[in-house]
Amino acid sequence: MSCVARLYQKIEDSFFLVVGTKTCGYFPQNALGVTIFAEPRYAMAESEEGDISAQSNDQEELEKICLRIKSDRNPSVIIWIGTCTTEIIKMDLEGIAPKLERRIGIPIVVARANGLDYAFTQGEDTVLAAMAHRCPEYKRCETDQKSRGGTERVEIHATSSNKSISQTSELAKSNLVIFGSLPSGVASQLNSELKRQSIFVSGWLPSQKYNELPGLGQGVYVCGVNPFLSRTATTLMRRRKCQLIGAPFPIGPDGTRAWIEKICSVFNVKPDGLEERESQIWKNVEDYTQVVSGKSVFFTGDNLLEISIARFLIRCGMIVYEIGIPYMDRRYQAAELSFLQHTCKKMETPLPRIVEKPDNYSQVQRMHELKPHLAITGMAHANPLEARNIDTKWSVEFTFAQIHGSSNARDILELVTRPLRCRGSLASGSPSLSRQTAES
Ligand code: SF4
Repeated sequence: MSCVARLYQKIEDSFFLVVGTKTCGYFPQNALGVTIFAEPRYAMAESEEGDISAQSNDQEELEKICLRIKSDRNPSVIIWIGTCTTEIIKMDLEGIAPKLERRIGIPIVVARANGLDYAFTQGEDTVLAAMAHRCPEYKRCETDQKSRGGTERVEIHATSSNKSISQTSELAKSNLVIFGSLPSGVASQLNSELKRQSIFVSGWLPSQKYNELPGLGQGVYVCGVNPFLSRTATTLMRRRKCQLIGAPFPIGPDGTRAWIEKICSVFNVKPDGLEERESQIWKNVEDYTQVVSGKSVFFTGDNLLEISIARFLIRCGMIVYEIGIPYMDRRYQAAELSFLQHTCKKMETPLPRIVEKPDNYSQVQRMHELKPHLAITGMAHANPLEARNIDTKWSVEFTFAQIHGSSNARDILELVTRPLRCRGSLASGSPSLSRQTAES
């Protein structure tokens, strides 16, 4: 349910209502840090004794709360987040939502982002999968285009500066929807990277506003930006009949290039200047890669971004001992996994062991033996490991930092190298490489 933190900021006119107990309430209060003082657009519907023993009527209680949200904030959509409690007492959120939706006149989307079934970032996956059902049908646009027929094709061709692109593929290119919640700045960077290849993104799921959700349906290509969105991908394919582009994820300059190349191949576009762009970025981050090269890293597993980040770090010259990951969808991550293999071969390092649903206790034992230079881990283990002389980086930071697109490679390396540089400068007293170490 921590997805609420990312998503209420991304979907500007939304309101998130977490239906659960005080345990769930305490969690975001702590996890969201200072943002909870900025009147966030989320709230708890806190279950009481009466709700648990079914003495109160769930629908009436939720209606009261939603009416209050409507009068206070007037959002375009209310998203109910189901929790462990609603699962265990079998509260029928999906059944109540459509009735209340009609009564209060605001769309209600239900996502079961509970701790029983999902880990961390998978919460966003459940919300986006639920939202995919609310996207308008694409067919309408298709018939529009058909009815306008030839004239539109000519217009597009006339305005296009690149004469070599055929008219039909120009039309097909507008059917690309990207899914995954990214800060708007990063989303527009990816948009323009694709635009450079004459590929136009027709929409994002989620969009900035609920009413601007992209049209979905047969003939629409979808591509993910995050490795944890497998349910959304499945919903888009099976329920909305979209075509999934299975590509490595645009994390690091290598991942971004592979992501764009895959999209280009689907639309029959010859990628232009990607290789030069990638080598330019690698040159720009040379000061950082020198710090990490030859160092070893251990992922304990937390946010499902592990494979992509490990692949990028291997490309930077690091040795990855273990990739812990809470859940691994081998079909959705297939392209990323083969890219990882390819990267290991290229860098002549052994393929790291991938451990799904890891047992933290044994991981700590393994770390004790392997003595990695760096452990990327959750906050629960970070300080105890530091006390045992293993440098750590909090994995949660990768979830909130801007890590997508070629130009953000520096930000990932900034995060990874910070503990290593800190130790270096503490040991030698030497001046630091980065502005941020100077601050810390
Ligand atoms: S794990 Fe369950 S009870 Fe705990 S905060 Fe998450 S939803 Fe609530």
